Amino acid sequence: MRERLEVPKELLARYATSAPRYTSYPTAVDWEKDPEKAFDPATYGERLEAAAAARPGEAISLYTHIPYCAELCLFCGCNVQISRSNERRERYLEAIEHELRFIERTGIQKRAVKQFHWGGGTPTSLDPDQLEQLFGSIMSRFHMAEGAEVSIEVDPRVTTPEQIERLAGLGFNRISMGVQDFEPDVQQAIKRVQSEEMTRSVIQSAREAGMKSVNVDLIYGLPHQTRDGFKRTVETTLDIAPERVALFHYAHVPWMKKHQAAMDTDAMPSAEQKLDLFADSIEAFDTAGYVYLGLDHFALPEDELSVAAADGTLHRNFMGYTTQRGREMISLGVSSIGEVDGCYVQNIANEPEYVKDVAERGFATYRGHAMTPEDRLRRDIILELMCNGRVDKRRIEAEHGIDFDATFALELGELRVPVEDGLVELSAEQIKLTPVGQVLMRNVAVPFDRYLRERKARGETGKSTFSKTL
Ligand code: SF4
Repeated sequence: MRERLEVPKELLARYATSAPRYTSYPTAVDWEKDPEKAFDPATYGERLEAAAAARPGEAISLYTHIPYCAELCLFCGCNVQISRSNERRERYLEAIEHELRFIERTGIQKRAVKQFHWGGGTPTSLDPDQLEQLFGSIMSRFHMAEGAEVSIEVDPRVTTPEQIERLAGLGFNRISMGVQDFEPDVQQAIKRVQSEEMTRSVIQSAREAGMKSVNVDLIYGLPHQTRDGFKRTVETTLDIAPERVALFHYAHVPWMKKHQAAMDTDAMPSAEQKLDLFADSIEAFDTAGYVYLGLDHFALPEDELSVAAADGTLHRNFMGYTTQRGREMISLGVSSIGEVDGCYVQNIANEPEYVKDVAERGFATYRGHAMTPEDRLRRDIILELMCNGRVDKRRIEAEHGIDFDATFALELGELRVPVEDGLVELSAEQIKLTPVGQVLMRNVAVPFDRYLRERKARGETGKSTFSKTL
């Protein structure tokens, strides 16, 4: 069993800084909108065509963003539209149809889909017929690979047994849902009141409908959370026994998400208290037999994420931890992010502009980034740290044609302090996170982020760019 995680308090003050979560490298703040720079958004169609022609036999990931929610949760950091208008949803489905017609002309839809995900917002804010219409519209072009992962985010407050049944009938085999905290006073403070019965009922419907995996999101760092209260939340979660649990640190970024300013910051736990919440939870999930995958994810041992973690093949993309290493991702919908032909791409985040763009030209890409060989090298290192807790220098040297120690002399020098602090161990062969380093892995990854280094040199970082690591 894992030893209780103890992070010396004086370390907390130094390491509870802002840092990226590295679902991509470079992170989205460093992608360009300027066609004069490395990526021209107008070339999206050509990128899709190139990816279709170059790798016809490789499966892809397919993400669709449905941005609507009935109410705004105060902690929310997603791209959401608060609306109950059915007309607006119909118009949005029509816009996705435009995007699909454009994509179809590039030939990319001939590649099989291995990972299929609907996120939001709340995809189940669409009614059962709309869900079926959207799925039909996508699948009249694309086809699933054998054993595809077909998942959807649901909000138990608005999701009906009929929707779950219809989704399972379409082939959805995984659901993910936010719970955050079961304690009533915390739920009131974050304006997301969701009874335990609602959560249990949706999970039971999913299981009865034959879905094989349930993910539950919890958040620590919210107002009125206490060790006893959060222990109860974790115990209830363990009793429900989801296959996967994401235990996120609340990202308080009111300068980016204005509604978060209404959060009662005086009632939030301190960095030290947050570490207790996190350490208690790790201990509880570990005792219950869950595997700690790193950063903020846990899974049952038989889950394929745990198997990948044991094999050292875990990966990370915009959807979080995944077994789908290096897969190109096609994205549909407002603000959605994809990765195609060596480029990150993102659709415009403004809904009316998205609808107008796709109606006029079939796509709404507004920024992206063409990966350079150096980006790929640094991404490989950062993702290895974030996913597998270690970097095998010889593998990196062989795959990227470099001398690791000579190329990263500056970065390895900067790791001296984290080494002294017990976050990381350096040897001739590898960089390896310690248990404390697993919690603070974002801090260990930061020295390898060239863009962040340049931002710092230009005086462009600070609280306005990234969330706190703890
Ligand atoms: S339901 Fe999810 S996406 Fe919608 S406002 Fe709440 S946290 Fe945000």
